[in-house]
Amino acid sequence: MVISGKELAARLKAEMAEQVATFPEKYGRVPHLVVILVGTDPGSQTYVRNKEKACDVVGFKHTTYRLPEETPEQEVLDRIAALNADDSVDGILVQLPLPKHISETKVIEAIAKEKDVDGFHPLNTAALWQKRPNNTCVVPCTPMGIIKLLEEGNVEIAGKKAVVLGRSQIVGLPISKLLLDRNATVTICHSRTKDLAEVTRQADILVAAIGKAKFVTGDMVKEGAAVIDVGMDLDENGKLCGDVDFASVEPKASVITPVPGGVGPMTICCLMSNTIQCFLNRF
Ligand code: NAP
Repeated sequence: MVISGKELAARLKAEMAEQVATFPEKYGRVPHLVVILVGTDPGSQTYVRNKEKACDVVGFKHTTYRLPEETPEQEVLDRIAALNADDSVDGILVQLPLPKHISETKVIEAIAKEKDVDGFHPLNTAALWQKRPNNTCVVPCTPMGIIKLLEEGNVEIAGKKAVVLGRSQIVGLPISKLLLDRNATVTICHSRTKDLAEVTRQADILVAAIGKAKFVTGDMVKEGAAVIDVGMDLDENGKLCGDVDFASVEPKASVITPVPGGVGPMTICCLMSNTIQCFLNRF
């Protein structure tokens, strides 16, 4: 079964739109998401446009600051400080990557934890890794989207062997923790993993997040595995594709996500739900 992230995201956004429509009466306003985009990276511009469209669909107020490439780091930090202090702003997102002269770490740390809709602030990361009752941390969007896709595909997680390819702060590590929290036995692989195919062939759930076009081939996948493809890569013809070679893996997988139309739309959908969470936490 191919799980369509596009369809699931559309359904969840429609549900959120209904919820948001009740907010003016209950809270006097709708959530307000502010996006800061520095520079002209074409990928980033597309992502930001898609985020703006999603805000329109769910009924948020949204503001985008498009700043020139040469904007000094301090100016970005000052803008974040002003938005942190602005009561009418519920969520702040700085589109990554940033130009080289701006420290991503400083920028991420400057955003108030309560308005960190990407869930990248060290306090949100720490909260994700510390299991506490009533943990209200903001979970990064892509990993949360993966969990929703697995749920949509009725994939059982508890007791299953999950293999995550990639150990980045934004995908590999947080999805590993979310799977662990749901009682999977998790193996995290990276560029120094030996006999990778041996490891991936044991996976009941395989999450590929390495950024290498069509890297995971059919011979690396167990019959009946659930395969989630996070990659956003370009194939030999410059066309968008994933980390998974769909043609050889799809016949073996019990469920699989496509690229495009899989994890990508769910990332934006979870950004919308994180913004609602940050908004509601303020009342
Ligand atoms: P990243 O920060 O570049 O991390 C890549 C990870 O893959 C690293 O941990 C690296 O290992 C590992 N790796 C690289 N080559 C490998 C190999 N040959 N075998 C095993 N592991 C290998 O990437 P990321 O930010 O997590 O993104 C991964 C992919 O997901 C990219 O294509 C990105 O565009 C995509 N992405 C999509 C979304 C979405 O919404 N759809 C969101 C975020 C990212 P080391 O740690 O040893 O270097």
